[in-house]
Amino acid sequence: MDNKELANLIFPNVKDISYYEAKYPVRDLPEGAVVSRFAPSPTGFVHIGGLYQALVARTVTSQTNGVFFLRIEDTDQKREIENGIEGIIDSLKDFDMSPDEGMISQTEERGEYGPYKQSERKEIYQAYAKYLIEQGKAYPCFCTAETLEQIRKNQEAAMERTGYYGKWTRCRKMPLDLMKEKIENGENYIIRFKSPGNPDKKIKHHDVIKGNVDFPENDQDIVIIKADGLPTYHFAHAVDDHLMRTTHVIRSDEWLPSVPLHIQLFTELGFKPPKYAHIAPIMKNDNGNKRKLSKRKDPEAAVSYYLEQGIPSDAVKEYLLNIANSNFENWRRANKDKSIDEFEFHLNKMSVSGALFDMIKLLDVSKIVISKYSAEKVYNETIKWANVFDKDFANILEKDKDYTLKVLGIERGNQKPRKDIAKWSDVKENVLYMYNELFENSNENYEFQVIQEKEEIKEVLTKYIEKYFNIDDDKQLWFDRMKDLAEEMGYAREVKLFKAELNKYKAHVGDVSTVIRVALTKRHNTPDMYEIMNVLGKDEVISRIQKCIETL
Ligand code: GLU
Repeated sequence: MDNKELANLIFPNVKDISYYEAKYPVRDLPEGAVVSRFAPSPTGFVHIGGLYQALVARTVTSQTNGVFFLRIEDTDQKREIENGIEGIIDSLKDFDMSPDEGMISQTEERGEYGPYKQSERKEIYQAYAKYLIEQGKAYPCFCTAETLEQIRKNQEAAMERTGYYGKWTRCRKMPLDLMKEKIENGENYIIRFKSPGNPDKKIKHHDVIKGNVDFPENDQDIVIIKADGLPTYHFAHAVDDHLMRTTHVIRSDEWLPSVPLHIQLFTELGFKPPKYAHIAPIMKNDNGNKRKLSKRKDPEAAVSYYLEQGIPSDAVKEYLLNIANSNFENWRRANKDKSIDEFEFHLNKMSVSGALFDMIKLLDVSKIVISKYSAEKVYNETIKWANVFDKDFANILEKDKDYTLKVLGIERGNQKPRKDIAKWSDVKENVLYMYNELFENSNENYEFQVIQEKEEIKEVLTKYIEKYFNIDDDKQLWFDRMKDLAEEMGYAREVKLFKAELNKYKAHVGDVSTVIRVALTKRHNTPDMYEIMNVLGKDEVISRIQKCIETL
């Protein structure tokens, strides 16, 4: 019995690896093109950290005219959920980050380097496992769970590292004939890698993000093929990223300690190792303590949260780039109107330790992103959101699209656009008073500020509609008339006049216009009142002011 015979006994029907090497040739891409991937398990849940990694990979691959693909890592079939793949694909689509290659639905894929779902690559992994066995670099292991437990106990008692390595291994040293006998007797086994490593020696790793890191060599004889015939993550990573011709493995830094093993696997398989870029997790400040964003504790850890809230995907991506490359903020300041695609992203400028996630900052970014949208875009996005999350509101907005476009167009498309919308779920609150069915049913009250006296308020409002209000006035004239009203009633027509001679005036023009603003909107702060009046129209302005007078 030799290694070749043993390999044949274990995997009699798999192809020779030369078949796969030829089937998946080195990609014909321009110099410097990055090939990278997003490789989630199909649990259906996309963590914001996963989206962050995918965004980084999508960005560097696009910027180098490379390839970004989606591989589904479903070798741990216990974790799989129904339609989990679709959930991932939809999330990428929602963020306009669809892959160039890979899975495109629960069952379909695109690209020449597939299958892109690991459970469908079983025979490929087995071909490479066979290749290792043939060379004496892998072997069947018959150890039962009880044996492994015993080994662990012995190691703990001897105060030594746990695991299956060196002198602690059993099956590594088993004569091939005995292996043959056990296999023929139908004993259960898995396949282990025969590690050539010596932990007293160091390997030098240069990580694109973390820089130079030294590790002891790996000496663990890790499992490469499990009892169900599927590979472990480590082995699948080596085989897949080699055959899919990945140039850069961009992944979470929880995998950094596995680098010595992965490089060893690549080397023993005769593959050129890829470059590695290990991304630190997104952190959250929790009462002064920095901790990872947690799926269990933080709703914002789920990508679906952003869509439910109606935070535009552009804003989330812009914010993630912000925390990914610290020079993004300066770039944005200098390039206010450019698309984020024009930002030159650098993997090696990513932070080595975890970037801090700040929801308030994200919402600020979002306000700016939305402020640059046209009324038409705000309309479409709000309707899209409201159709799912607030159908009644969608109906109100859609009832008169032209009117809604005017409402959403207030203080938009000018030099200093309104920045009061951070998410589509804010729109209702922001435009409520522009729709009678919402305004009349709201629980807001007329709350006046400086001018409080009922008779005085009545007089301001009555005089305004009788003498000073004209819907056809241009902005300057409109404002001048407001000042005239103020003056007639003993208020300063300019704030600075009032400040100069406090005793001379009752208050100033701003206080007068607040009375009108409250009558029209029940708010103290709104966007430009001139624009609001124009959108409401003459009759509505008069009717609202009259209604307010009646309540006094
Ligand atoms: N399935 C692995 C994970 O979700 C992928 C890691 C990788 O990108 O290689 O952690």
